[in-house]
Amino acid sequence: MNIGVLGAGQLGRMLALAGYPLANRFTFLDTTGHPSAGIGDVMVDTDQKHLADFLAKVDLVTYEFEHLPVPLVQAIEEHKPVHPSSEAIRICQNRAEEKALFDRLGIPTPAYRLVDSAEALEDAVRELGTPVVAKSVTEGYDGKGQAVIKTPSEAAEAWRSINHPRLIVEAFVDFVREVSIIAVRGRDGQVVFYPMAENLHVDGILRYSLAPMPDLDAAIQDTADGYIRALLDELDYVGVLTLELFQTPDGGLLANEMAPRVHNSGHWTMDGAVTSQFENHLRAIQGLPLGDTAARMPSCMVNVIGQEGEAARLLEIEDAHLHRYDKSERPGRKLAHVNLLAPTHAELIEKVRRCAELLPGAPTPRFSFE
Ligand code: AMP
Repeated sequence: MNIGVLGAGQLGRMLALAGYPLANRFTFLDTTGHPSAGIGDVMVDTDQKHLADFLAKVDLVTYEFEHLPVPLVQAIEEHKPVHPSSEAIRICQNRAEEKALFDRLGIPTPAYRLVDSAEALEDAVRELGTPVVAKSVTEGYDGKGQAVIKTPSEAAEAWRSINHPRLIVEAFVDFVREVSIIAVRGRDGQVVFYPMAENLHVDGILRYSLAPMPDLDAAIQDTADGYIRALLDELDYVGVLTLELFQTPDGGLLANEMAPRVHNSGHWTMDGAVTSQFENHLRAIQGLPLGDTAARMPSCMVNVIGQEGEAARLLEIEDAHLHRYDKSERPGRKLAHVNLLAPTHAELIEKVRRCAELLPGAPTPRFSFE
C-alpha cells in the first residue's frame, strides 16, 4: 500500500516510521516549499502542477496538516480515498465551524461570540466580561493570531494586532489544567481511546504532555470519550482525532479545539502505549484492526524547541527515548521530543526535571497534581 500524505513535516515523518513495519510506502505532497519529513518520496508542489503524478503513485491519501485548501482535498477525493475526509478539514480549519459543531453535539465550550469589527469586539468583551481571548477564526495555530484582552478599552488595539476580518472571542477559562483526548475510529466504525494527557503550554506552544494522569477520575475520562465519540460518529471519521479541552475546578471539561490528525500531545504513545497513535492511524485508514491504546507505564513527552539538547546527555536518562526530526535550529521551531517512562509518577517527574535541565530554554515543568 502506497500512502499519500498531504504535508511533509515531522508528523508525516513519524507516520512513515510507524508504517514501514506494515510494509507501507509513503509519498508526501508538500505545498509549502519547506518539507522536513526527510523520509519517503517527497514531492514539492507549490504551484499545484504535480497533483496527477502524486495521485498516480498512491493508493489512499491522508494528511498531517489541516491548513490545506479544501477544494484541493475535495479534488483528491474524486480520485482516491481520503481519510479523514475533507469535511473534517473544512471544520477543523475554522474555529467558528468547530464551535458550532461542539454546540450541535452538546459538547460544552467556553462562552464565546463571533465578531467582524473592532466595535463588535469591544461589545463582546463587555458582554462576556474580562478577561477574554480573541482569536482569528482561521489560520491560527500554536497561539498565533490571538490576544488576551483585559479591559474593553484594549479591544481596538487587539483588533489591529490580530488583523483578521473575523474573530472568535472566548471567555478566559480559569482552568485547573489543559488536557487532550485522542481517539481512533476504524473504517468499520470501531472506536478506541487513549488515556487523556495533561498538557503544559508556554506562550501557546506545547512543552510537556503527561499520561496517564495519576489523579484523573474515571468519570472524566468517560466524559471525554463520549465527547470525542460524538465527533467521530458525526463526521463518519476514519483515523486519529484529537480534542483539546480545559478541565475546570468543578471537574468539568470545556472543549477548546480539535485537530483531524495525529497530535503532539500523543507523541508519548510512541514509547508509552501498547500501540502508538501513528500506527493506529495507519491501521484505521487501511481498514486493519485497531491496536491496544493502554499505557505501558506513566509517560511524559518533552518537546525540544528552538535549540537541540545534547543527545548523549539526554540518553543517559534511563528509559528516555529521543525522537529527532532532522531540522535546523530556529527560535520556536519544534526540533525533537524526548519520551520518558517510569514505574511511578514521582520517578517520572524527577526524570522530566532532569531532562528539562538539559534542554536550553525549557520551562520548568509543573503539573497540576504535584
Ligand atoms: P489555542 O490555539 O486555541 O489552542 O490556544 C492556545 C493556548 O492559549 C491554549 O493552549 C491555552 O493555554 C490558551 N487559551 C486559549 N483559549 C483560552 C481560553 N478561552 N481560556 C484560557 N486560556 C486559553
